[in-house]
Amino acid sequence: MPITLGGLTFQVTCSMGIACFPQHGENPSDLVANADAAMYRAKETGRDSLEIFSVEMAEKARKKLVLIEEMRRALEEGQFVLHFQPQKNLLTGKVFGAEALVRWNHPVRGLVPPGDFIPLAEETGLIVPLGDWILREACRQCKVWQDGGLEPVVVSVNVSARQFKEKAWAVHVAAALEQCGLDPSYLELEVTESLIMQDLAGALQRMRELKALGVKLSIDDFGTGYSSLSALKSFPVSQLKIDRSFLADIPGDVDNMAITSAIVSLAQKLGLEVIAEGVETEEQARFLLESGCVNIQGYLVGRPVPPADFLGFLQGAYPPRLSDEPAGMRTAAKQDQLTISNRT
Ligand code: C2E
Ligand code: MG
Ligand code: MG
Repeated sequence: MPITLGGLTFQVTCSMGIACFPQHGENPSDLVANADAAMYRAKETGRDSLEIFSVEMAEKARKKLVLIEEMRRALEEGQFVLHFQPQKNLLTGKVFGAEALVRWNHPVRGLVPPGDFIPLAEETGLIVPLGDWILREACRQCKVWQDGGLEPVVVSVNVSARQFKEKAWAVHVAAALEQCGLDPSYLELEVTESLIMQDLAGALQRMRELKALGVKLSIDDFGTGYSSLSALKSFPVSQLKIDRSFLADIPGDVDNMAITSAIVSLAQKLGLEVIAEGVETEEQARFLLESGCVNIQGYLVGRPVPPADFLGFLQGAYPPRLSDEPAGMRTAAKQDQLTISNRT
């Protein structure tokens, strides 16, 4: 039932956790702890509901705690690594950029993809120190390539919502650039529409600070978020990154083709650069070129690889074949698609 306080009406909801004696605990402290765990589960699943404690729930909570502890140790022990995925201009044929993608080199589980640990890192706040490491490592690697006399590339780093909430984040970025001696124009930060829309005013402030540093800003997974087109024109970004879901089934899917070319012309009209991600086939690349999008990233050009292998892209050599990919990180792309990429 709504309650009225100071002229405002509030709807009060309740999340409840239930633990029963004796199956869920034989003393008050165990019962309360387990009811508490069930209540947090109720909150996670959308609030305003009740959950009954179960053994599976306890096991899930235990695994999560173990993973959090492992992640803290991994950060201290340097178990995280960066792989780099090339970005290519279809007209010049040149690799002009590299997206830094983090992986966890776990001592037992092998190479763990970011989707398995970034959400938990965000939830626990570990993304802040991890994100700082990623940023510094990406800048350091970019400078190492430049100092090695290779054609300079722009390195893109993914930014999480939690990092963006840090008021002094632009200061961290400036410090990382200075520490590595990297010119800001070689760093691009990828933010998502949902990250921006979570706190539009704060995000705009942060984006302006970053732009003032001379860093590039790009909207990742464009088209999948909720930013309004009127808000978009106020974002100080320089590039839209078309989400890979729109590239799927091109040239078969007419809707995806329409969305992709609409994003390309939107970018052009707003004076923004545009890049397509998840480009796997020559047909997709041809369609993009015809639509006016000349920059691409995806398996057609190359998969994310360790820095030593990325040298191959910078020197114009071919990327390693699918069979050279580290175990556990392979995806469903077919061998023949990779063969095409090796010929590009
Ligand atoms: P994202 O930033 O959109 O990165 C692109 C993802 O698409 C990468 O997955 C990449 O390996 C994959 N990909 C690239 N080309 C193709 C292709 O042609 N076909 C298909 N099917 N997939 C392709 P990955 O490395 O697993 O990363 C997944 C997501 O994890 C990233 O999406 C990003 O949101 C997040 N992530 C990765 N590294 C970082 C990081 O350093 N910091 C933060 N905050 N998030 C990261
Ligand atoms: Mg990205
Ligand atoms: Mg993306």
